[in-house]
Amino acid sequence: MSTVAAYTLGCKVNQYDTEGVLSLFSQKGYEIVPFEEKADIYIINTCTVTAESDKKSRQIIRRAKDKNPLSIVVVMGCYTQTEPSKVAQIEGVDIIIGTSGRDLVVKLVEEYRTKKEQIIKITTADKFEDLPATYHERTRAYVKIQDGCDNFCSYCKIPYSRGRIRSRLPESILEEVANLASSGTKEIIFTGIHIGAYGRDLEGWNLARILKEALKIPGYRLRLSSIEPLELDDEIIELLDYPNFCRHLHIPLQSGTDKILKAMNRKYDTETYSEIIQKVKDYSPLGLTTDIIVGFPGESEEDFIKTCEFVKEMGFTRLHVFPFSRRKGTKAYSLPNQIPRKERSRRAKELIAIGQDLEDAYHQKNIGRIAEVVVEQEALLPETSKRGFSGTTEDYIKVYIDKPGNGFVQVELEKVYSNGVLGRTLKSV
Ligand code: SF4
Repeated sequence: MSTVAAYTLGCKVNQYDTEGVLSLFSQKGYEIVPFEEKADIYIINTCTVTAESDKKSRQIIRRAKDKNPLSIVVVMGCYTQTEPSKVAQIEGVDIIIGTSGRDLVVKLVEEYRTKKEQIIKITTADKFEDLPATYHERTRAYVKIQDGCDNFCSYCKIPYSRGRIRSRLPESILEEVANLASSGTKEIIFTGIHIGAYGRDLEGWNLARILKEALKIPGYRLRLSSIEPLELDDEIIELLDYPNFCRHLHIPLQSGTDKILKAMNRKYDTETYSEIIQKVKDYSPLGLTTDIIVGFPGESEEDFIKTCEFVKEMGFTRLHVFPFSRRKGTKAYSLPNQIPRKERSRRAKELIAIGQDLEDAYHQKNIGRIAEVVVEQEALLPETSKRGFSGTTEDYIKVYIDKPGNGFVQVELEKVYSNGVLGRTLKSV
């Protein structure tokens, strides 16, 4: 029996796509083995979000061929979609596909076995490619509901690598959710490239409607991976009252100044963003997380300080900070006033420290609260050498507990640690 191993770079959507491709091999009788093992076929699902991800993609491709020089190496994903000829030149790459046409992967491997000639198959999709995937992280599972993005933020390569918006058919999403919930998955995360755009290409559907339908299925809680500020409408905000919809919103901000937001082509200003946050601020508990890019071309020290102030004002509970990465093919690549790498790192470090303070303050505010945690994995309890478990609350607080429980556990939040909170187990629910 032929063996297949895979390595995924980048985001959860990529992880999900890799699982889909592996399922196709599995259905055809191939055996799936870990990437560290010698395999007959290696699948490398690449990322191109930063210059660093391009480099890492190239390293992994070489590592696969080193493991088994006779293996067939299939490279797919965002990097191949945007730079197929560069990937084709890397020694040992046998098959190149992009971010669509992945359903043909087994056929292409079989074709390569007969012809022994490099295959490059880069296509663009106009429909959601529904691969038979289930991407689990222990008690949590990701369900991909959409692909592609039409926003063209000036720093982002994703619209070029992932193509236009394609929504997954509602019946397919709901079937997967029902299967996961009935087989014991406690938390499902709706994921995609730009999920607020869900349904734009389907008659009568939008994100609020698919969420409402999914929330009718019992036995699990639902989390939204991310939503663009202008797409967080009242209908979605009202879902925060549903007991099985996680009180956690990840709303990318990217910059706290109007000048930089405009240069980023983000289509909202700080006033609008702030108004949206005010609408949800009264929900408690509420995990409010965001992404920020620092060191964007033209960002002065004053702009950076303004961003730091705005971040504090919004009261986020966790930040994901990224130093600007200059990507060829994007508008931001050729903008004047590029910020030196050292300065971008300095700003990132400073903002990460602010993020840590905000997170600690939120944790502190929640001490004494009774919360439900989905237990995910074994973990070393911080500040001790004892083994325990960790999981997350609906508002995205990482909680350490000493007892495993059975999926959902009710805890009292007791003490703040540097990267989470200690919880005292009350009961399994
Ligand atoms: S919304 Fe902007 S940052 Fe997000 S994927 Fe689309 S273009 Fe990229």
